[in-house]
Amino acid sequence: METDEELAFRDFNSLKRYKFNDERTSTTTSREQQKTENSIEKCYNRFQQMQYLDAKVKKIHREEHQRYLETMLRRLPSHYECLDSSRPWNVYWILQAAHLLNFTFDEETLEDVVQFLIKCRHPNGGFAGGPGQYPHLAPTYAAVNCLCIIGTPSAYRAIDRESLIKFLFSVRETDGSFRLHVDGETDVRGAYCAISCAKLTNMPDEVLKKLFDKTGDWISSCQTYEGGFGGAPDLEAHGGYTFCGIAALALLDEGYKCDTQQLLKWNLQRQMPFEGGFQGRTNKLVDGCYSFWVGATIPITQAIIQEGESLKESLFDTGALQEYILLCCQKANGGLIDKPGKPQDLYHTCYTLSGVSIAQHSSFSFNPQVLGDPVNELLPTHPLFNVPPRAVALSLGHFEQLNQNYKDSKIPLNTQQNSAPNCGKNSNDCEKSSTECCMETDNGINNAEDDEEARVSSVSSSISN
Ligand SMILES: [Zn+2]
Repeated sequence: METDEELAFRDFNSLKRYKFNDERTSTTTSREQQKTENSIEKCYNRFQQMQYLDAKVKKIHREEHQRYLETMLRRLPSHYECLDSSRPWNVYWILQAAHLLNFTFDEETLEDVVQFLIKCRHPNGGFAGGPGQYPHLAPTYAAVNCLCIIGTPSAYRAIDRESLIKFLFSVRETDGSFRLHVDGETDVRGAYCAISCAKLTNMPDEVLKKLFDKTGDWISSCQTYEGGFGGAPDLEAHGGYTFCGIAALALLDEGYKCDTQQLLKWNLQRQMPFEGGFQGRTNKLVDGCYSFWVGATIPITQAIIQEGESLKESLFDTGALQEYILLCCQKANGGLIDKPGKPQDLYHTCYTLSGVSIAQHSSFSFNPQVLGDPVNELLPTHPLFNVPPRAVALSLGHFEQLNQNYKDSKIPLNTQQNSAPNCGKNSNDCEKSSTECCMETDNGINNAEDDEEARVSSVSSSISN
């Protein structure tokens, strides 16, 4: 696609020929696929009529999504109770979605978030899914991303990089893989989360070398015969693990260790010809969240193949992807979804919007590829960390200063930081007032500086970060 060519909605009538053909053998899988296509066809038919009556159908419903995110940051509905061990994730999905939609929370609220995340930090390093829980790599990734998005001195201090390093070493295995928590399972998410946290906090080279010795080889061993990555060696290729695998290799500058051509091919095959969105595995249904997991993997892989040369064109249909999210995945009362018929949630709100952002900004011209109304343009995201590119630049700058001080004085890495973690002991002291804890449920159970701005928004330049 030419970079300055305008994106148009597809001709939905001619798309019918791409609908699934079960060759007169009906199975559970084929019926599910047909049902999904029919629900999507209804969205497209509705759009074809409504576009002449209501301009809003071509737009991202910014106000509704903003209201949804603001409400969710202050009080979660009771069904989020099952995410009690994923609370930093909820905050991250909200902050990242808010960034993409170009709004931010007031300083006081953001400081409340910092204080909440400090309660999730474990005395031995790393962050837990909630106050008083064991540290785990996934919420650690979410918490570090949140704190870098907030980017205030107090947010950076809350990361407590020295204890974070200790935690990362405590979950490292001798073959270079990472357990999600001490004695927990090993998979490629663990490696990605560890690498992302280490790189975003700009850990010194000597730490990175020891921490990620053999990790690139282990990650590469998760690539399957199909071309995508499984969660661990010999498991089925999956969009989420594939993103983790290639983003981790790119961050280590070891993208050459996997078969990038096969990887690219597998990812491109995940775009559904009728639906426009991506599926996460072969023969599975379209799902909005893979807009990011698969959508970001494509330009990252392209950048590795092109060895850092800037990307001139998108290899997937960026218009069709935006069409799916815009017409099929927005809830009228705010929030985005997996597919028509599903309820909105924070995870899908974050990753559908992140995918749209990648689709709009993944080829580098001065013109983003925006489908529909120009107000649909989202802010760019960093494809490897999925946080604002500016947050990456500022975090690298902040921690580089810390490394400099360390080198100059040979004093502990976090000497400038307030290293008194205060979570763990009094977990139930997490007061319900909004100043203490920004995540509550309906039933009251606690659930859930202007440095030089690096050109990190470019995928190719970010590979080397
Ligand atoms: Zn999903």
